[in-house]
Amino acid sequence: MLTIQYRDWIRDVPDFPKPGILFRDITPLLGNGSVYQQAIAELAERVRAWGADVIAGPEARGYVVGAPLAATLGLGFVPVRKPGKLPYTTVSVTYDLEYGQDRLEIHSDAIQKGQRVVVADDLLATGGTMSATIELVRKLGGEVVGAAFFIELKALEGRSRLGDIPIHTLVQYE
Ligand code: 5GP
Repeated sequence: MLTIQYRDWIRDVPDFPKPGILFRDITPLLGNGSVYQQAIAELAERVRAWGADVIAGPEARGYVVGAPLAATLGLGFVPVRKPGKLPYTTVSVTYDLEYGQDRLEIHSDAIQKGQRVVVADDLLATGGTMSATIELVRKLGGEVVGAAFFIELKALEGRSRLGDIPIHTLVQYE
């Protein structure tokens, strides 16, 4: 594998979505076929070692990481969605945001008891989104065996909210 500096393919956008926030934009990485392919291949190597049965990811950018990971490994992909989007019966969790609350849902039959599940998203910040995703997987009886991300914002200490689940990230910002 070539050594790719993934950081060179992530664009910093100041003041998005609100003044004072520096947004890490992954669309340059997604827009380059070989960089995207290698990012997924690197994460897939780790996920293979974790022995996952299925991958789950929250909308929307969790899909651009989780779905190609799953397809690369020949595993199923489970979408975790905002309320009211999934057509079949769902299980939901409510989680706290900086201001207010949000909810995520999963299909009630998406994961079988005892299945080994890897959760995936583009970016780990406070860990709120991923800990809600993990809670959903556990509600269905899945065992979360790892978490994979393109990016980790270390200062926000999202790792501390994921307990002792192994985590792999391609790029870390202090
Ligand atoms: P957390 O819940 O860990 O605080 O935030 C992570 C979630 O918010 C992820 O689903 C991610 O897509 C989104 N997010 C927050 N900040 C950024 C950012 O700077 N760049 C990108 N690409 N996503 C972000």
